[in-house]
Amino acid sequence: MTTTAPDWNALAASVEFPTDLLIDGAWDSGVGRVEVISPIDGRVVTDVAQADGTAVDQAVASARRSFEDRRWAGLAPVDRKDVLIRWAHLVNDHAPQLAVLTALEMGKPAREAQAIDVRACHRTLRWFGEALDKVLDEMPKVPDSSWAMIEREPAGVVGAITPWNFPLTIETWKIAPALAVGCSVVLKPAELSPLTALYVARLGLEAGLPEGVLNVVNGTGAVAGAALAGHPDVDIITFTGSTATGRRIMTAAAESNMKRPYLELGGKGANIVFPDADLDAAAATTAWAVTYNAGQMCTAGSRLIVHESVKDEVMERVLAAMAGLQPDNPLNHDAPIGAIASSRQLDTVHGIVTRGLAEGGRLVTGGSPTLTETCGSYYPPTVVDDLTPDSYLAQTEVFGPVLSVLSFSGDQEAVDIGNATPYGLASAVWTNDLSRARRASKGLRMGTVWVNCYEEGDLTVPFGGVKQSGFGSDKSLHAMEKFTDLKTTWIELS
Ligand code: NAD
Repeated sequence: MTTTAPDWNALAASVEFPTDLLIDGAWDSGVGRVEVISPIDGRVVTDVAQADGTAVDQAVASARRSFEDRRWAGLAPVDRKDVLIRWAHLVNDHAPQLAVLTALEMGKPAREAQAIDVRACHRTLRWFGEALDKVLDEMPKVPDSSWAMIEREPAGVVGAITPWNFPLTIETWKIAPALAVGCSVVLKPAELSPLTALYVARLGLEAGLPEGVLNVVNGTGAVAGAALAGHPDVDIITFTGSTATGRRIMTAAAESNMKRPYLELGGKGANIVFPDADLDAAAATTAWAVTYNAGQMCTAGSRLIVHESVKDEVMERVLAAMAGLQPDNPLNHDAPIGAIASSRQLDTVHGIVTRGLAEGGRLVTGGSPTLTETCGSYYPPTVVDDLTPDSYLAQTEVFGPVLSVLSFSGDQEAVDIGNATPYGLASAVWTNDLSRARRASKGLRMGTVWVNCYEEGDLTVPFGGVKQSGFGSDKSLHAMEKFTDLKTTWIELS
């Protein structure tokens, strides 16, 4: 990876990027254009082409042609692998440009985007590229008179609909395994973050992806997203976003051609702190886990569930840590956290906090937008206490740097509070007692439980939710299986 720190402001002024739709290997000006407004300072970065239903039809038809003529699926696995790895290297070569575009379109610090998001994009392309020619089909033991093959065939045309909070990371988690197994893809990136998606797609063409194998249709969820989710010629729809949209996508999938949906949805993560834990580590991580990416994370640790005997000292340390995690211009190299992705999202965050306070919460710190003179969208770390597990703020996914504080007196009560939301994505348990950690981890209905850490992850390990956080994990070899169909061929031997 590039390690020297670029001058982010200079790069922001000079970076060049595509703004059209990518359909059938060509740039298409779509049916109109919509401005991309930077949450850093409210200025217009550019405008991007928009897809309507017709453009989505064209993109799906192009993906279908490229799939049926096997220009990609029919390549030797080693040749698909070469393209994905070449693509990964190009992403690495363009790391500063991708990082600054991430900062411009959705407001996370460019430094962090380069270290986390661009690296994840690079590594994901490389990992699935390297894996794809090592996954073998099976031949079971059968009587001598027959022969059976169990093959994993690429499932066809994959529609991918993604959010804006980790645009590069999440898009690549969908695209890379789908392409690795030989599918063709139509990507609908979030309205707020089309620029990085288009830039990475352009690098894919440069790496040798055949025309039509990857198409990108920017546009609104209601038009482009709905057209893709309900399209009769899409075989799989893979989605990351809110639970409300996931429900619509599942309905559209069922009511069109019963395409297979994979849904990575919302969350209401917790740091559950037992009295025997390393309280310094638990408090510092609690502060970080709800402010990282300005709290715009499905896995945000947005609840602190702390044993009543240590609540005061944990709170004191959380607040001390949060004092150093205030928002700043994402183009400043040492910005601790950046902007909220849009003024609309800022209003949503503030609206949820306001209602939470009206319904009985007590504001401990933060609670209103900051840096308003910049015309950007910034919200400080915010802590609300005196809540009950069923209160509005303890139940609602905020998607901003807002921590709800709850307390418990017994181990089972801690687990019960942890489980007391419709979500089941991820949470952490803090204790130095291994048996207690195991009991809590078994009791929590979550896709991921961390013990004495938060946000640990690796490409080898699946990531996904249960309950209303969705199903169909990203990452790991399981993600490749998702984009295949199992096929058995029986041959009677003479
Ligand atoms: P969102 O649901 O509003 O939008 C996500 C995507 O869906 C966007 O591309 C949007 O255009 C599209 N969309 C909207 N309406 C649609 C429709 N009717 N049909 C088809 N597509 C439609 O979510 P967001 O605000 O972009 O992202 C925030 C949400 O994403 C949060 O709830 C967060 O928890 C979730 N998220 C989940 C994960 C995870 O892995 N579980 C990761 C990141 C974000």
